[in-house]
Amino acid sequence: MTQLTPTPTADSGTGAPLTGTPVVPGVAFGPVLVARTDISPDAVAGYEATSHQKDEALAAYDAAVATVSGRLADRAGNTQGSAAEVLTATAGLARDPGLRAAVAGRVDGGDNLLVALRGSVDQFAELFTQMGGLMAERVTDLRDLEKRLTAEIVGEPEPGVPTPDVPSVLVAEDLAPADTAGLDAELVLALVTERGGPTSHTAIIARQLGIPCVVAVHGAMTLSSGTSVLVDGTTGDVEIDPDTDEAARRVQEARDKRAALEAWTGPARTSDGTRVKVLANVADGASAAKAAQGPVEGSGLFRTELCFLNRKDEPSVEEQADLYAAVLSSFGEDRYVVVRTLDAGSDKPVAFATLEGEENPALGVRGLRLSFGNPGLLERQLDAIALAAKQTGTTPWVMAPMVATVDEAREFAGQVRDRGLKAGVMVEVPSAALLAHRFLEEVDFLSIGTNDLTQYTMAADRMASDLAHLTDPWQPAVLALVAITAEAGTQAGKPVGVCGEAAADPLLATALVGMGITSLSMAVAAVRAVGAQLAEVSMDTCEAAAEAALAARDPAAARAAVRDVLSR
Ligand code: PEP
Ligand code: MG
Repeated sequence: MTQLTPTPTADSGTGAPLTGTPVVPGVAFGPVLVARTDISPDAVAGYEATSHQKDEALAAYDAAVATVSGRLADRAGNTQGSAAEVLTATAGLARDPGLRAAVAGRVDGGDNLLVALRGSVDQFAELFTQMGGLMAERVTDLRDLEKRLTAEIVGEPEPGVPTPDVPSVLVAEDLAPADTAGLDAELVLALVTERGGPTSHTAIIARQLGIPCVVAVHGAMTLSSGTSVLVDGTTGDVEIDPDTDEAARRVQEARDKRAALEAWTGPARTSDGTRVKVLANVADGASAAKAAQGPVEGSGLFRTELCFLNRKDEPSVEEQADLYAAVLSSFGEDRYVVVRTLDAGSDKPVAFATLEGEENPALGVRGLRLSFGNPGLLERQLDAIALAAKQTGTTPWVMAPMVATVDEAREFAGQVRDRGLKAGVMVEVPSAALLAHRFLEEVDFLSIGTNDLTQYTMAADRMASDLAHLTDPWQPAVLALVAITAEAGTQAGKPVGVCGEAAADPLLATALVGMGITSLSMAVAAVRAVGAQLAEVSMDTCEAAAEAALAARDPAAARAAVRDVLSR
């Protein structure tokens, strides 16, 4: 990594604020440090215009691989935990023999080395995308690797994130896992990216580091290193050259607010006493044990498929029961766990369940639909959940993902109740939201998966960073479907929760509660912020927030309208 000290530039700021999608709350003030991940097009064109012997080209490839993988491995050695894992994995990808064979084949066929590299990376990226899930996420690593190797081959400096000498606001097009691995929260005050969405890698890393983050900021890459900016991760505003005293006051105010959050201990209720269940999303026994130490009333989403991503064969009922019991026992008898049956397929492939070769897996046989052709899979999982319930003396709630019709809900609920468990379904498909009142005649509860509900309502792939403005749960059409579902729950007197990313947004949480949502389940890191926000507002304010959000014409207007209601 290059060392770079941002130096103020006289003409850097235009004064006009930039704005984007706020993803991690907080306020930061400091000089911009731009991370450029592009390579000089002239250097690339120059290399491509020169002819090279085939063996020379391959030797250049091997040398670039050795240098790039060596650098990544060195950085891995200087960091720990998941950062080290990411760097080691990218170094491994660089040395992948399959990639080398593909490059060599293309060079042999007469391609210039850079053309061969690009073609081979495209080929692997397509393969990874088709495999979906975790493999699809590796496409970002692959593209990042292509840039690093290209820079090395053409003799340009390695693209990536410079190490700031002074605490800075890091600005980039988007950040790859290898860029962010090892970022130092002491030196990086905030992240601002031109692309990316609420679920992008940049957003995830910012949440982990606990630093403010705004993504999809149009014009971010026009900022110059050294320009002073004030980043507001709640409003999405990036103010250029703000008044220094005012900026310092806003940073302090945000710090005080954060300190107050740390003091929140639950249980969640509005300022006038309406109870809302704040719950944690968990993936296995270890994450459940950790979440159970927090101020939560249980888990509103146990994603069972995450226990099996690395399994080739279906575990026996007894083995599954042990895994589920570890989660159930973490929360004990006084709290409750909502177990979601396998949501295999699409972005979460499970070898023993997911169908191969679907044209469009997100609209294919995923979630509950897998049981249509393989009923035993669901039956054995329900048997295992029932066994775990017996072993732990708890009564889990059980829900199915990707439910589209009332008949599916009825059939599923029957199977769950036959085993003495409480039955519900997820609302992820617009059909389930529109007919929520009829679904509630069949089940005991509903849980809205806003990630998929947004994807299917807006017809926008939740993994597509170019469509981040559409895959936003603040979209009015998504909020309207949530409101219909919540109202059906109120009428039926049955719980309706939210367990997608939307539940982790403190601002949106107020509007959701105002619509009648009875529980919010989220990543455990978000629990205190949401609980503390709810404690500050009355139910009347929540209802006004819901009304304002529903009346807004787009996500930005909805956020502004709710902030306005809360500030009154
Ligand atoms: C959702 O779709 O909102 C959800 C909670 O399920 P997942 O993110 O696991 O698909
Ligand atoms: Mg989902």
